[in-house]
Amino acid sequence: MRGAVRERVELGPMMHLRIGGPADWFLEPWAEDDVALAVRACRDVDVPLRVLGGGSNIVVADAGVRGAVLHLGNLNRIVRDGNRITVGAGVTLPSLLRATKEVGLAGLEKLTGIPALVGGAVAMNAGTRDGETFEHLVSLTLADSDGRLVVLGKERFAPTYRDGGLRDSIVLQATFELQPDDPKAIFERFSTSLRKRNATQPVSQRSVGCVFRNPAGDAAGRLIEVAGCKTLRIGGIEVSGMHANYFVNDGRGSAADFLGLMNEVRRRVRDQFGVELEPEVKFWGF
Ligand SMILES: Cc1cc2nc3c(=O)[nH]c(=O)nc-3n(C[C@H](O)[C@H](O)[C@H](O)COP(=O)(O)OP(=O)(O)OC[C@H]3O[C@@H](n4cnc5c(N)ncnc54)[C@H](O)[C@@H]3O)c2cc1C
Repeated sequence: MRGAVRERVELGPMMHLRIGGPADWFLEPWAEDDVALAVRACRDVDVPLRVLGGGSNIVVADAGVRGAVLHLGNLNRIVRDGNRITVGAGVTLPSLLRATKEVGLAGLEKLTGIPALVGGAVAMNAGTRDGETFEHLVSLTLADSDGRLVVLGKERFAPTYRDGGLRDSIVLQATFELQPDDPKAIFERFSTSLRKRNATQPVSQRSVGCVFRNPAGDAAGRLIEVAGCKTLRIGGIEVSGMHANYFVNDGRGSAADFLGLMNEVRRRVRDQFGVELEPEVKFWGF
């Protein structure tokens, strides 16, 4: 595999929450076929492989994770062909939004403020009330679990709420079809969403976004707030006073604090409403 292979790399500094111990191996392949080689190499020697995007939806255990973590920051090309944009999995969503805004292609501004990489946004089918990542998707280039490169149309997937339905495949590249629009109008929509987000969510603090999925017909944040959990704290992790479905790290928090707070919030919501909150966030190494 061409690219960097490093041993025992601390994941905490790469995570949005700034929590987590080391990975045994950290792999940064150069190109798509290097990812395929890495998948095959790990499979052949029985080393578990995880893919890290922007680290904005993962809590890594304090003891870290065994096996290898793959980072796709080198897959960073953005290519335009008419109304279509093909983008590498390692491009940040904010850079993609900036690029589409500048060339007057509309649609992705629905995803304003999500601190993901494109691969992570597709894997999680990230979205807002205005729309989801899969809405504008045409096709994906993937490395499957056998290390084969495949290009599949969007119709081959059954994305649901916060799950792109990729199973064990790794997103290498995504092609989106967008609509031409006035860059000023796109910018206006982008700014409105950003203002709304800044006013209602603790965006400048360390978090993983929404901790729990919204139960059918309700909002997890509302249930947590009514259960009296706002500003509840364990160690360095606190239920945000601004948005109760966000847990924020004051810089001293651990993964154990995060898990403890999650369990306490779930217990209080269950006792008061009989609703079992399901985590939206992913856990590595627990
Ligand atoms: C402040 C804040 C606001 C947020 N707001 C929103 C929001 O409005 N809407 C929303 O949906 N989410 C939101 N999130 C959550 C998060 O940004 C999304 O879940 C996002 O899709 C995660 O992308 P990531 O690149 O950070 O992925 P990571 O957190 O690194 O990974 C998430 C999962 O995707 C997998 N993955 C990552 N890259 C790939 C790849 N290339 N191929 C296959 N699997 C991959 C990982 O293995 C992991 O299982 C927010 C988070 C924060 C911190």
